[in-house]
Amino acid sequence: MKLGITHKELNEKIGGQFLVENDQDIDVVFYDTRRIIPNLKGVFFAIKGKNKSGIEFISKAHSKNVRCFVVEELPERIPENSSVILVKNVLFALQELAKQHRNKFSIPIIAITGSLGKTICKEWLYYLLKTNYKVIRTPKSYNSQLGVALSLLEIDDSHEVGIFEADISHPNEMVRLEEIISPTLGIFTNIGKHHQDNFDDEKHHLDEHLKLFIRCNYTFILDSYHSVFRKRKLKTIETSMKDFTHWNIDQLPFTDNRALCLKCAEFFGINELELKTTQRELPVLSGRQETLEGINNNIIINDSYNIDIDALEQALEGQVASNIRKKKVVVLDLKNVAENKSKQIIQTVQKYRPSEVYLTSDQEFRTKILSLKDSLILFKGPFSSSLSYWVNKIKKQSHETWVEFNLKAIRDNLNFFQNLVPQKTKMLVMVKASTYGAGNARLPHFFQENGADYLGVAFTDEGVALRKAGIDLPIIVMNCESKGHEDLFKYNLEPSIGSFNQLASFLESVVLNGLLKWPIHIKVETGMNRLGFKPEVISQLVTQLKSNESLEIKSVFSHLSDADNVDSSFTNQQIATFNQIKNTFKQEISQEILFHILNTEGLLRYAKEASFDMVRIGIGIFGYSSSIKQLSKSISWFTTIAQINHIKNQESVGYARSFKATKNMKIAVVRVGYADGLSRRLGNGKGRVFINNKACKIIGNICMDLTMVDVTNVEYNEKDVVEIIGNNQTLDEFARLMETIPYEVMTSLSPRVPKLFIDV
Ligand SMILES: *Cc1c(COP(=O)(O)O)cnc(C)c1O
Repeated sequence: MKLGITHKELNEKIGGQFLVENDQDIDVVFYDTRRIIPNLKGVFFAIKGKNKSGIEFISKAHSKNVRCFVVEELPERIPENSSVILVKNVLFALQELAKQHRNKFSIPIIAITGSLGKTICKEWLYYLLKTNYKVIRTPKSYNSQLGVALSLLEIDDSHEVGIFEADISHPNEMVRLEEIISPTLGIFTNIGKHHQDNFDDEKHHLDEHLKLFIRCNYTFILDSYHSVFRKRKLKTIETSMKDFTHWNIDQLPFTDNRALCLKCAEFFGINELELKTTQRELPVLSGRQETLEGINNNIIINDSYNIDIDALEQALEGQVASNIRKKKVVVLDLKNVAENKSKQIIQTVQKYRPSEVYLTSDQEFRTKILSLKDSLILFKGPFSSSLSYWVNKIKKQSHETWVEFNLKAIRDNLNFFQNLVPQKTKMLVMVKASTYGAGNARLPHFFQENGADYLGVAFTDEGVALRKAGIDLPIIVMNCESKGHEDLFKYNLEPSIGSFNQLASFLESVVLNGLLKWPIHIKVETGMNRLGFKPEVISQLVTQLKSNESLEIKSVFSHLSDADNVDSSFTNQQIATFNQIKNTFKQEISQEILFHILNTEGLLRYAKEASFDMVRIGIGIFGYSSSIKQLSKSISWFTTIAQINHIKNQESVGYARSFKATKNMKIAVVRVGYADGLSRRLGNGKGRVFINNKACKIIGNICMDLTMVDVTNVEYNEKDVVEIIGNNQTLDEFARLMETIPYEVMTSLSPRVPKLFIDV
């Protein structure tokens, strides 16, 4: 967004009244103090929310360098050097600004509404158009009164087409959205029977939705809605799946929404050949319906996003309508669904007469689902259900080795740690090195949802990746280089600072960027002898920081170097030194600072004396510790058998012929190698895997993608899963064989190995 207007111009556009005026420039709009980027010239819209007046965030926004505020109530204090603009309704003012911004552009603007499938349509259409047009679209599903306004403000001169989603939950909301979007084209997906929220009835609900299209040149609709639109004299372009059957596109079920998108793309002049190619690559939207090829000749429709009745009926209709000759099976996860809703769901499913209905709670479910073949399987359940685990289990794997993280175990460990410390003690979860190898998105979100207060990363880039994945928690960056300062500011990251040089260089960047009170964390050295200010320079440091307006000390911390030693004398010494340092800070600086020193092992052994204000957990959250056994181990690693070879006495196996058989043997070739993270050090009998719970030694040298193991005395089935890490061989045991620690095993897992997250 680059608005390029002044405070005065803003005031004119939104018809406000200056309480104080201080003319400066504005480029961006902020509405949430957590998302303020301090080095951009912004205006803060103090929008009233359910539990907030909006006003209370003004001083927070001011401390992040915002100098223009739009309010509907008088603030207690007028912020310095700023403009304050009073309006009747802050949200309406923002919408007015968005509307005027949109009206500066005469490009085609497509608006999408309906009960289901808006986001998917928007994304698909974007993909179909994007090679030929520069398209701006609603980010994520920003389809509310606020979201639409924010999305429209992003339009700039480079754009050639805009696609915006609109959703309403109350009568009269659509009229406002129509007015600010003023779409030239519409797409109507459908209207559900069970989804009427605050509307009188189905007709009322439908009428409200259709108000989006009153000024459109055309609206793309399914032909089943022909008379509905005709009655209201709305101009339409109609289609249905049938229009595209002659394309013979692929074997997978073709949906109505896909037809709408293709029809609209045709309208924009994209030719059939191009559409046929692009539509094959339409993105699978995580959490929305996706169709996958399964094992045993199955096709899977994964629709585990929500379980409202409309979405269910639509999915069932799709399943029935598809002309694929396969058994139709519905899999439901009703674990967290209320009883009367469960009943309604099962009745609805039965109406469509599938050949079989499975419930994940059924004792026999595992056996049933794994033996299903030649079926079209619809998975339906709420978003947080275990269905994605099962979908992954039975979909055709492109990789045949994978790592599983058990979220239930991780949640148990988090609770265990929370119970070790006083309630007010904050939890920081270290997610450096892509969450110890588990990836950058899923687990950080999981920690955010399960009560973590802070996240910690090693490098700025890791913090940026977390922000891009939508993480809002405060993030400490342990080692930041001076060239990364811009990114710290841009992505709202908090550096750890451990030397005077680093302090000077960071301070310079903060001042150059005109920032105030940027949060920092002071690292002090108590015995590790790695990074940090030494105890003897602390008073000098405190004197420097005391009256500094540019920085705000959020926390002071140190790191233990010998926490797992049964002899606790060194650790006690470190804690004592840290306490002295803490006193120096406390004496000189009155503002609140968090002190912290414990990592996993430290927390397990020194929680009583050294929890201070926060603890920093890493490996323990996964269930690994050298001192206690109560944690729940969360990691398993599996692969599969590629081939079985019978070899004769005296034959050799693998590179360098390092293994020679001394008898006739059976060897399984399994699909994992050192490129996946299986260390070559485990070759030649040092390591083992488990098939059918029996240990099978690794034979010869481990190859890049494959490994040979001895199955001479093992009963197996070629489809058996091979355990590398799991119940028979835990991560700690595996690490010991490798002569390393669990941390190294985890962080050596290759990114090419898929990570699955299960919650069972
Ligand atoms: C990695 C790290 C931790 C977490 O350590 P674990 O042993 O994995 O619990 C804590 N603090 C700092 C500074 C770290 O770098």
